[in-house]
Amino acid sequence: MKLSFHKNYPLEQLNTFRISAKAKLFYEFEDEKSLIKTLKSDVLKKEKLLILGGGSNILITKDFDGVVLKNSIKGINIITENKDRAQIEVGSGVNWHDFVMWSVNKNLSGIENLALIPGLVGAAPIQNIGAYGVEVKDSILDVHYIDIQNKTKNTISNNECNFSYRNSIFKCELKNKVIITKVIFQLSKKDLNQISYGAIKSELELLKEEPSCKTICKAVINIRTKKLPNPNVLGNSGSFFKNPIISNDLFNNLKIEYPEIIGYKHSASHTKVAAGWLIDKAGWKGYKEKNVGVYKKQALVLVNHGGANGQEILDLANKISESIFNKFKINIHPEVNII
Ligand SMILES: Cc1cc2nc3c(=O)[nH]c(=O)nc-3n(C[C@H](O)[C@H](O)[C@H](O)COP(=O)(O)OP(=O)(O)OC[C@H]3O[C@@H](n4cnc5c(N)ncnc54)[C@H](O)[C@@H]3O)c2cc1C
Repeated sequence: MKLSFHKNYPLEQLNTFRISAKAKLFYEFEDEKSLIKTLKSDVLKKEKLLILGGGSNILITKDFDGVVLKNSIKGINIITENKDRAQIEVGSGVNWHDFVMWSVNKNLSGIENLALIPGLVGAAPIQNIGAYGVEVKDSILDVHYIDIQNKTKNTISNNECNFSYRNSIFKCELKNKVIITKVIFQLSKKDLNQISYGAIKSELELLKEEPSCKTICKAVINIRTKKLPNPNVLGNSGSFFKNPIISNDLFNNLKIEYPEIIGYKHSASHTKVAAGWLIDKAGWKGYKEKNVGVYKKQALVLVNHGGANGQEILDLANKISESIFNKFKINIHPEVNII
């Protein structure tokens, strides 16, 4: 069977920054078999490749001169369960929030704090998505992937994924080498009630609800809806920068000058600083320049006010990181993948 690639395919609706750009070639895969067949095609031998999930963690800076493979592998299945927990196999093309709602509706606990994060299940392990005191690594058992070069199926255990803050083996040794096809999760039948994050407690109080996976999910949805811009209304990619991890010495020195600086213990020797606080303190919150800017309610989010191109957003990001270095002597790095 001959594969039919779309030519000059528009990507504007396939990235949450809503950057208008085209892919030279485009193909959507729905299962492992068709993916392997595509990878074996002659076209793929000549062209560079971009795997696209929900496009919520990328910044496209120019037309993509290669093949974009869009992931649409579906399916959520409980593979085994006992009285305490269930193991679930989820296709990498399933919408992340849909999977969270599926789990909450079944009273399976573990990922309710990660509600409303855009994107697909396959990208969740890549940067170890996290929010409101929870990281996805704590609910993942295994990740299944296809090796792009050998076209073989492989499975990697949680431990081998080398998960850390917004990082994993998929952003390091396996970067651009594999396509994640399914993820195996383990969720608890007992509510985990992870409410260390202050905003969740306050929202539960406001809702007059006791913590449970359902009420925590509801609280997180409320908080996120109030705080973060909806990409369907204002193009963005969530937090543009990672929170920098700096030495305790530098943090303590900064604290003398800025007693209100926000930092969390990362290790015995290092502190994780809130990048949003640094950007806000440097005066960028609400900044607007032509069609690009910094979100008025959250300085960590860069926005496309409409019609911006990716390079304009990248230029603004570079200006911000330069100013943060000049003011605080801290390097901040993008969380978003620059394409
Ligand atoms: C409003 C908003 C809020 C957000 N909030 C959060 C948050 O709270 N916490 C958080 O961690 N993130 C957050 N994000 C970032 C983003 O939603 C996550 O990183 C998400 O996991 C990205 O998924 P995606 O499918 O859109 O990935 P994409 O943007 O499509 O891809 C991201 C990268 O992964 C690669 N990739 C994608 N799928 C696969 C695959 N199957 N196999 C191999 N490589 C693949 C791509 O090539 C690309 O390099 C937010 C984004 C937005 C827009």
